[in-house]
Amino acid sequence: MAFCYIAGMDHFLYKDGILHAEDVPIPEIAAAVGTPFYVYSSATLTRHYRLFEEALAGMDHLICYAMKANSNQAVLRLMASLGAGVDVVSGGEYRRALAAGFAPERIVFSGVGKTVEEMELALSGGIRQFNVESEPEMALLSSVAVRLGKVVPITVRVNPDVDAKTHEKIATGKAENKFGIPISRAREVYAQAAALPGLKVIGVDVHIGSQLTDLEPFEQAYLKVSELTRSLRADGHTIERLDLGGGLGIPYERSNLAPPLPLEYGEVVRRTVGDLGCEIEIEPGRLIAGNAGMLIASVIYEKSGEDRDFLILDAAMNDLIRPAMYGAYHDIVPVIEAAPGEGQKPYDVVGPVCESGDTFTKQRMLNPAQSGDLIGFRSAGAYGAVMSSEYNTRPLIPEILVHEHQFAVIRARPTFDEIINRDTIPEWLEGSD
Ligand SMILES: *Cc1c(COP(=O)(O)O)cnc(C)c1O
Repeated sequence: MAFCYIAGMDHFLYKDGILHAEDVPIPEIAAAVGTPFYVYSSATLTRHYRLFEEALAGMDHLICYAMKANSNQAVLRLMASLGAGVDVVSGGEYRRALAAGFAPERIVFSGVGKTVEEMELALSGGIRQFNVESEPEMALLSSVAVRLGKVVPITVRVNPDVDAKTHEKIATGKAENKFGIPISRAREVYAQAAALPGLKVIGVDVHIGSQLTDLEPFEQAYLKVSELTRSLRADGHTIERLDLGGGLGIPYERSNLAPPLPLEYGEVVRRTVGDLGCEIEIEPGRLIAGNAGMLIASVIYEKSGEDRDFLILDAAMNDLIRPAMYGAYHDIVPVIEAAPGEGQKPYDVVGPVCESGDTFTKQRMLNPAQSGDLIGFRSAGAYGAVMSSEYNTRPLIPEILVHEHQFAVIRARPTFDEIINRDTIPEWLEGSD
């Protein structure tokens, strides 16, 4: 299994020189829906979920898929069918979870800025637990719960002040970050929580960041959680559940050393908090969805610049913002495998949006491509479609789910009328054309 993860990684493989998603040739999907589009593999999503199941086997646990990585209803339905719980960070995501069929007892509510409306929604609909992140949130949640005649199970998200050694925009466990309460003040805050009538303290929550490629920060954070659990128990709290967050990284660059495997991560969990008799929750998002998806685009033009060549694609930063936002790397591959011995050359790969930031990569060695060729971005299943926009009035691109030899459109491309008709003209401007 572990070997499988490194070597296979996903179900996007060439067969007879043509890139397939499981058993479906990518050009077949392109012909049916047009480019650009996202395509996800059910088998990869399933395998990644199961890797975590195996990693935590023998421990009482629930894997709560962090849907912000990819919240398509079909992906969620698949996760629910596998027995997953789900981590939501907004009222919208809570609604998505229910719509996809998650039982309320399997929905965890995280997030640093929950509103009264979101609290009411989840308290009325049912929730496994709230992970609270501040004292004002605690007080508000308790008052909302009392008003609705409920007592809500909570953990407090602690900020362990460890360096996750990841991109600054996705590190969340340092003292300077907005997340959680400082672990140094945790005992005081737990005492306050226990005194609030609408709350029932059940555990501790921690999430230190995303795309972690080293287990050391997890180890440090979880040791602190273990120590805190003992102190809180000594203070008289019932700590029966530990939410250890998500964040395990994925290999974006195939040529690079792979990040730790879920199995190794599971060993860290066992070693650091396995002796506490707690139910373990984890919230992986990226590792489940990331390598289960690709973005497929067409080359519009191959253009020669002053000192470099450009591939101008029909996909852009609005479709996949990670390169522009985080300087993220995605492997870029031809859908039709290059002939052996065909020389590569350096390209800047860009989209048509009117910003220089609309650049996927600079001076990447790629096989020569021409107008009409299909190009794929690997590892685009997480934080891809969910972060897309319609900037430049470029319609949200379709999402496709593959299952063996079948594929289905799981989000259709909107029409231009749908996009334009979302806007409305105020009365005083009507007729003034
Ligand atoms: C984003 C997030 C996750 C998921 O992180 P990944 O890196 O995608 O695994 C889990 N928990 C919380 C609270 C998050 O904000």
